Amino acid sequence: MPEMRKDCRPEGRIRTILAADDEKINLDLLGGILGGEFRLLFAEDGEETLEILRREKESLSLVLLDLVMPKLHGLQILTIMREDPELRRIPVIVTTSEYSAEVECLNLGAIDFIPKPYPGKEVILARVRRTIELSEDRDIIRATERDSLTGLYNREFFYRYAEQLERMNPGERMEAMVLDIDRFHMINERYGKVYGDGVLRHIADRLRFLLRDRPGIASRPECDVFFVYTAELPDHAAFLESVVGGLPENRDAAGRIRLRMGVYPCGDGNLEMEQRFDRAKSAADTVRGSFVKTVAVYDSALHESELFSGQLLEDFHEALREKQFRVFYQPKFDIRPEIPVLVSAEALVRWEHPSLGLIGPSSFIPLFEKNGLILELDRHVWREAAARIREWKDRLGFSVPVSVNVSRVDIYDPGLADFLSGLTEEYGLKPEELLLEITESAYTEDTEQLISAVRGLRKRGFRIEMDDFGTGYSSLNMISTLPIDALKLDIQFIRNAFREKRDTRMLEVILEIADYLSVPVIAEGVETEEQLSVLRAMGCNMVQGFYFSRPVPPEEYEVYVEQRKHMELPLLRNCPMSGTYRRIFYVNLSDGSYVEFGTAGRHEDLQIQKSGDNFFAAAERALPRDVHPEDVERVARVLKKDFLEGELKKKKYVSIIYRMMNRGKAVYCSLRAVRPGIPDEHHVVIGIRNVSEIVKSTVRSRFAERNLPGAVDVLGAGGGP
Ligand code: C2E
Ligand code: CA
Ligand code: CA
Repeated sequence: MPEMRKDCRPEGRIRTILAADDEKINLDLLGGILGGEFRLLFAEDGEETLEILRREKESLSLVLLDLVMPKLHGLQILTIMREDPELRRIPVIVTTSEYSAEVECLNLGAIDFIPKPYPGKEVILARVRRTIELSEDRDIIRATERDSLTGLYNREFFYRYAEQLERMNPGERMEAMVLDIDRFHMINERYGKVYGDGVLRHIADRLRFLLRDRPGIASRPECDVFFVYTAELPDHAAFLESVVGGLPENRDAAGRIRLRMGVYPCGDGNLEMEQRFDRAKSAADTVRGSFVKTVAVYDSALHESELFSGQLLEDFHEALREKQFRVFYQPKFDIRPEIPVLVSAEALVRWEHPSLGLIGPSSFIPLFEKNGLILELDRHVWREAAARIREWKDRLGFSVPVSVNVSRVDIYDPGLADFLSGLTEEYGLKPEELLLEITESAYTEDTEQLISAVRGLRKRGFRIEMDDFGTGYSSLNMISTLPIDALKLDIQFIRNAFREKRDTRMLEVILEIADYLSVPVIAEGVETEEQLSVLRAMGCNMVQGFYFSRPVPPEEYEVYVEQRKHMELPLLRNCPMSGTYRRIFYVNLSDGSYVEFGTAGRHEDLQIQKSGDNFFAAAERALPRDVHPEDVERVARVLKKDFLEGELKKKKYVSIIYRMMNRGKAVYCSLRAVRPGIPDEHHVVIGIRNVSEIVKSTVRSRFAERNLPGAVDVLGAGGGP
């Protein structure tokens, strides 16, 4: 195979010539004529000729070949050379007195003849020089026309030759085909570049073989894409199959290599060659990743859809300016408590197109991912979501996190983390309030890049949900090494699990592993009561789906937020804390947000006083003002997220007695922290009440026995109020 040899004809390089002849006198003569200008190698029989050819194939510029030689005839040597891709490129001049063999020699690839007895010295020199020059020119042309790895035409020359081929076969129905390897980068990553290159070469060889005796040429215009232009094929699928057939060495890898093919059928001869291949490529893209279909033919439906896509692309920027992209919200519920609790919502974009009506994201997201517009669209959606969270917090005094979709393409944007941090800062949100959903297939595409991007985002406090889990190829043990905060099971996965056979085994296994790794699982696309109860029984934590709600406009979703706010009340009523507490804080441990309730002494009268977004910070600020200076430090130690979380894992409650300052007077108080009345790791209820004189004395003796944190020394140290 000719390698790119840009240095093909450096001036002054000494070329090497192999002269093969069994008569020593002829070799001496050639030596005398050519020796001054060339480096000469001599062979005296057929076998020696072949041996030197193989050994010196890199350096040989020419072979002067006698036909009749012992051991191997010159014609046999020509045949061998022709079949060997590396020897084929070395030009051969036959030196012979047998004129009858001329045609046969030419057919076997010889370039010229020098008759015996030899003509004059100048004639021989001229023929030798000219042949070398021509062959080097041809090498240069080949190298510019062709791809150096496979020897197939590159894109530009391919189009030219395809047009030529069409002109040369006027009656023939020709078709354009694009072949594309699915997930080629994965093959490279997994089995190494050498193997990957071998696969590409193999495909090129197969194409050359399959096109050997029909009008047709092939090209490798891009890394893992092949173009074929040929007379109409009777069976595309069979053709594709024979291209993949017999892949080399690594059997394990070979089984995973899948090609898809798009065909632009013969027809519109007016269409530019390039456009025909663009269309064939679009057809190929329609079967990307499909396991059932590997061949697609460009047809009118695809044409229509391309026109549609064209319009969407054209309208995009205006739509962005005119705010035609609307963000809907679909709630996610924690289903572990008896009454499911709203935990977050997913932001899903829709396009309210002035002439085409409401368009769902599946019609435009993949398109915008292809040409990069998704970066602008996603930033718009994220901003909308951030603005909404802010608005709800301000207006309702309450909000739950919103998750936004982060496209694979966004991951490669080096400004991603800065943009997101800037956004949350701008709207005064904590990073935990904007969850990020990253699709599973992104994890398998470029694992390293993605993992490092995700690590960076998590370092800044963002939480990551792995979306569409179960559709891609990530193995279960990948979950344990990936930096993620939750797993979203794909809709299709849930559907399959609940198909007729009720094959929920796979689901069970995933939930078990996720549980073992302490990764919460969200099931998407839950539509029925049955699905809900099975999932709940299996220990699935969260659910999103039409069963609860479709994605709805923000005004409609707000109702869920309001409801959730009021749900804090029944949650509190159930919590194991008697009705004597004056102030109760309902604190979300995962993000620190809280709601403060006040009471006239009965839980039924709980009233929301205020809410805030960081209980622990607020407590730290208030302590020096509200608490007796000698007790500040102890109370501060208890009012720490990590401390509370750790203690409540070990025991049912944490409590502490300390002195509050009330108009300059110290008042004994009791603070108690418990889990709410539902199995809920995210929240803690903190109550504060006064300790009356009588209670105080009983507490004093009881505390001495129970040794609750810090209680004894306070009481011991304290002067009365
Ligand atoms: P996704 O991220 O998997 O979102 C969930 C999709 O499932 C949504 O489709 C939602 O409406 C649908 N769904 C939820 N529950 C059910 C159910 O019970 N039954 C059924 N049949 N469907 C359910 P939607 O809104 O059409 O979005 C489709 C996809 O478009 C999303 O899939 C996501 O990949 C993408 N997408 C949507 N909005 C954005 C966005 O702002 N940015 C990016 N990059 N992608 C987005
Ligand atoms: Ca999603
Ligand atoms: Ca999903």
